[in-house]
Parts: sequence; C-alpha cells; structure tokens
Amino acid sequence: MAETFKGIAASNGIAIAKAYLLVDPDLSFEQQTIDDVAAEQARVDAAFSASSDDLTKIKEKAAQNLGETEAQVFEAHLMVLADPELTGAIKQNIADNKVNAEQAVKDVTDMYIGMFEAMTDNAYMQERAADIRDVTKRIMSHLLNVALPNPALIDEEVVLIARDLTPSDTAQLDRQFVKGILTDVGGRTAHSAIMARTLEIPAVVGTNKATQIPAGTTVIVDGLTGDFIIDPSADQIAEYQAAGDKYLAERAEWAKLKDEASVSADGKEFVIGANIGAPKDMPGVLENGAEGVGLYRTEFLYMESDHLPTEDEQFESYKTVLEQMNGKPVTVRTMDIGGDKELSYWKLPKEENPFLGYRAIRISLDQQDIFRTQLRALLRASAYGNLWIMFPMIATLGEFRQAKAIYTEEREKLAGEGVDMGEVKLGIMIEIPAAAMIADKFAKEVDFFSIGTNDLIGYTMAADRGNDKLAYLYQPYNPAILRLINNVIDAAHAEGKFAAMCGEMAGDPVALPILLGMGLDEFSMSAPSILQARSLMKKLSTADMAELAKKALDAETNDEVKALVESTVNA
Ligand code: PEP
Ligand code: MG
Repeated sequence: MAETFKGIAASNGIAIAKAYLLVDPDLSFEQQTIDDVAAEQARVDAAFSASSDDLTKIKEKAAQNLGETEAQVFEAHLMVLADPELTGAIKQNIADNKVNAEQAVKDVTDMYIGMFEAMTDNAYMQERAADIRDVTKRIMSHLLNVALPNPALIDEEVVLIARDLTPSDTAQLDRQFVKGILTDVGGRTAHSAIMARTLEIPAVVGTNKATQIPAGTTVIVDGLTGDFIIDPSADQIAEYQAAGDKYLAERAEWAKLKDEASVSADGKEFVIGANIGAPKDMPGVLENGAEGVGLYRTEFLYMESDHLPTEDEQFESYKTVLEQMNGKPVTVRTMDIGGDKELSYWKLPKEENPFLGYRAIRISLDQQDIFRTQLRALLRASAYGNLWIMFPMIATLGEFRQAKAIYTEEREKLAGEGVDMGEVKLGIMIEIPAAAMIADKFAKEVDFFSIGTNDLIGYTMAADRGNDKLAYLYQPYNPAILRLINNVIDAAHAEGKFAAMCGEMAGDPVALPILLGMGLDEFSMSAPSILQARSLMKKLSTADMAELAKKALDAETNDEVKALVESTVNA
C-alpha cells in the first residue's frame, strides 16, 4: 500500500490518472567556439522550423478546444518565428563571433527582449518582449533536444502536476483530459485554486512534493480531503473510485435543486450567485442554477489576452454575460491586476510586497485611460441586462468618490453621444479591513457591498493567501473575521443597502450557517458549489442561525466556531 500524503484541498472531486508534469526542463548550455558556421546556422533553421511545427499544432488544438481568442497568443508566437530579421541577426552573430547556435540565439533574443522591455509605457512592445521570451524557450528546447511540456496538446487523461499554475496555464487546460491538478505551492484561495474550482477539476495544492513525482506515475488526487497518493495499490484505487462515485451521487441529488429558489427552512429568500472569470464560464453558471453573477473577475480578460483588451472586445464579453443571465443581476468588478495577477505584456514595476502594492483600483485611478475604456465598455453593455459595477480593493472613501466621479463623467459623455444605457448599481468590494471598519460611512454612498473574504482574511491576519506555510492563518471562522463581516452586513442594512459576499468563504458549508444567521443577502461562489449550498440552506432556520452567529461572534477561536457550527447543524 502506498503512503497517503496531505496537501490543501482546493477543488472538490477525486481524480485517478497518470502524472503529466508541467515543469520547465533545464535549458542551460555552455558557450562554445565553432568552426563550421554553415552547420551551426543550419541548426538554427532546423530549430526554428521544428518550433514552428509545434506551434502550428498547438494553435490548432487551442482553437478547437478553447476558442479562437485563446489561440491568438500562438499566432503571435508564430509571427516571431517567421520574422527574417530575427533569424538573420542570429546567423550573423554565429558568423561574426563563431559561437554555437544556443549562444547566438540567447545573445540576440536577450537584446530584443531588453530593448522592448525598456519601453515601459508601450504595452505593444511589452507584449512582443513576452512573445520572444516564450518562443526562445521553445527554440532552445529544440537546439538542446529536450522536451518542452505542451499542456494544450494533452490528449489522454492526466493529473496535471506543476509547481504552481498561472491563470494563463489554467486557461489552456482541456477539462476532457485534465482530470486532476496537483501543485507544490498555493493555498485554497490562490487564483490557481479558484480557477480549478470553476473548471470543476479536482485539485490539491501546497503539496511541497508534487513536482518530484515521475511523469507517467499513477496518482490519486482527493480534492475533498486534500489527500494524494503516488503509485497507489489496486485496493487504494478501488477505495477512491468508490469515494468518487459517492461524491458524484451526492452531486446528482443536489442537481435536483437547479431550478428552485434559495430559501431557508423558515422560508426566507437569499440569492446564490456565481463567480466567473470569462464568458466561457457561463455554461457552468446556467447548469448550476445561479440566481445572478455575483463576481465577474474582469482581470482574466486582460490576462488571457496578449494585449490590453479594447473597448469593443470588452463590450462583447460583458454583453454576452448580461444577455445570458437574462435580466438577473450581473456584478462586474473592474480590473483587479496586481498581487498574484500579472500581465505578460505589461510589466508592472517590481515591488517588495505586491499584495500591499500597486494593484486594482489603485492602478485604475492612476492609469485612467485603461479605467475609462473599461467603464465605457461596461456602460455600453448595460443596455443588455441588469448590470452592477463594483470597484476592487477600496480602502478609502476618497477612492470610491474618485472612481464614481470618473464613472459619472463617462456615463454623461456616452449619454451625449446618444448611446443606450441601462440603470447601473455601483458598489465596492470590502476586502481591506479599513473599509470594513467604516462600512457605515461607505453604506451612505454605495448601492451595495460585496465582501471579498479571500483578501479580507489575508489582510486581517497579515498572511499571504498563496503561501502554503501560512495556510493555518486562513481562518474564516475566527471571531476577528466574523466581527468585521457582521459589521459590514449591519452597516449595509442600516442604510437599506445590499450585502453580498463573493470570497471563497461564501461557498463554504461551515461558514454558510453563520452568514445566513447574520442576514447576508447574497452568497456568490464558484458555480459547482451552488447546489450544495442551496441544499444546505433549505435545512437551516434563520432564527436558529442568528443564535449560532451570536455565539460565534462571542467565541475565541476559529476551531471553536467550527465545532460550534458542526454540532449545531448536525444536531
Ligand atoms: C476576494 O478577495 O475575496 C475576492 C473575491 O477577490 P479575488 O479573489 O479576486 O482577489
Ligand atoms: Mg480580492
């Protein structure tokens, strides 16, 4: 029997498949002096041509499985390869300096990357630098004859193994074949974990040893408990297959609630919304019977593109989501770049503490062109549904007022141009303790709050949400957190405003009874969690849960509250 290891459960379900390692190979080499210039130049041609063959295949596969937009980035890479100036410069370098092909490729591409990256205020040039960096890796892999992982080309069932997954890696995954995810680093609220939940791929993160697993070994990933097993015995496989089937049977039960309202046992109505990152997440939202989109993370539009998305590109995405929700509320959050969300084509200044740095609304208020483009796209889309807009990472009233003033200016401009617009509600994310503390002041000026517990917990506990060593400080039931949340809900209601939550805590079955007791209006979560939450809600009475919430607010520790909920709900 193989040993069972423990990581952090990040996305529900069980996967059993062979390991596929998404790890960059060693591309180091030695500089050499060569005699045969022509032979070395021929190696360059061969590597370029092999890279071009790879990318053509990847591009076709990506277009088929993921859509034309996702495939575009590979088109840009093919254009780099086809550029005669680049091959010319490399060959010239070989002839002039008598160096091996690897060294010549490195010298020339480093020069271009450095030159483009130095143009920090030109997003187009930043994109080209990122493209050249990616393509160079591929050329090197052919020169050195080592295989580069190609996640877009996976065509058999696998458990994907990586140190961490970037959102753009995750965007390339094909659910049909990627059955599970195992990573070395990350916590439950890291964006890779959130994406895995949206895609409904079972995942365990923060394992510390995933990338040591040899490629091709069978692994079991239990996203329900955080357990994983390397090279399991037949008995272990049978045991986990049974657990996986049980989970699927539970899901089938919950599925019956798809078209029902979200009501408590005593008949009080709540809203259960879905969190999305792109229009392509909409099938899951509709299949799981969401009553709204409570969080549309628009930064993924920026991250999955190879350029800053234009007003028209954004308009199309927002309109699609609004139309598909057919009059149900759609809360769109303006771009939240920064922290762990980076853009390949627009390098932000390196910071010591990116989570406490230049991000989200701070960038939007500073680089207003980008913000205004987004607001115009949103306002134009507002004619097609029930749009709510919210601003991320608001710390001060001044930030909200400034954002609202820019919004109002753009709205007036569009009205002057005769553009059709719908009514829009304006709100803020509450994810910084400073805003939670003076929620009463904000409540007088906003239409709604959405509590972002992923960051709120991180900032309150001073613990980076992606650091697996600090995972124990992700304490959603800690009374310190619960008091902040309760303060926000009460402040909203005192002004007749709407209180939502879109952090991962909203979909947590242990937190839900307390939040119900506090009177939270909307619970927004990854779509696959919705029906389980609706099923749980039906069993709880708001009066009993209000009692529970009171006790929780007066408790001392996270564990004490957890035990309290479990004993109350299971009683
Ligand atoms: C949050 O912080 O809780 C949140 C919903 O935003 P994100 O996870 O995108 O930072
Ligand atoms: Mg956040």
